[in-house]
Amino acid sequence: MRRTIVAGNWKMNKTNAEAVEMLTKLAELVKGDEKVGVVIGAPFTALSDAVKAVEGSHIEIAAENMNANESGAFTGEISAKMLTSIGVKYVILGHSERREYYGETDEIVNEKVKAALANGLTPILCIGEKLEDREAGRTNEVNATQLKGGMAGLTAEDAAKVVIAYEPVWAIGTGKTATPEMAQETHKAIRDLLTEMFGAEVAGDMTIQYGGSMKPGNAKELMSEADIDGGLVGGASLDADSFAEIVKAGL
Ligand code: 13P
Repeated sequence: MRRTIVAGNWKMNKTNAEAVEMLTKLAELVKGDEKVGVVIGAPFTALSDAVKAVEGSHIEIAAENMNANESGAFTGEISAKMLTSIGVKYVILGHSERREYYGETDEIVNEKVKAALANGLTPILCIGEKLEDREAGRTNEVNATQLKGGMAGLTAEDAAKVVIAYEPVWAIGTGKTATPEMAQETHKAIRDLLTEMFGAEVAGDMTIQYGGSMKPGNAKELMSEADIDGGLVGGASLDADSFAEIVKAGL
């Protein structure tokens, strides 16, 4: 059976001290909520202390990006091994902000997904259409291209380890959420495609998160849908109380 996982994506927010303070509080708030996976994506500078701050709780820490190469002359970059060496368990890959501002293509995302898996990191692979795609009726086509591109060359065994985050770009940071019905329809299309690619058993066990203005007020309704298995939360993950409420909505 697939697992509900609620993940936060802090983006470029929080100093190390702020990260530790928030996580210490969150660990208390989500005690007993082990049924739901809890992940926090933190900036590189806070990762090491973030891992220590959640020790003894079921919260796991994610990086928000990484480089696909093992090591070498890549100034300013961070490898999968550097992340695992400090206890990071997940990595958010292919976020629409990285695609938009840093030119990440499906090929680049695919390399990163493979490197993460090879190093025992769980990739949270982000896909999602822009407003103009939805309006032109291209939602499923765009998601299919990103999903096939990002997961190219993966075996079914590899695919089973990947978490998918469906984030309609027009819903990110805008306060506009896809309605639960709209999100469910797209999640179902994504799972159908995963079934074609990797078989019904693997697709049925894969976690597909929804992201885009998820908050305490809409999380339960979204996660009640059959194919919505958690969330990838931006703004509302910055505050321990709000994020804990979203976690509890997934119980
Ligand atoms: P918001 O929750 O702030 O809309 O951000 C969603 C997101 O981009 C998570 O990765």
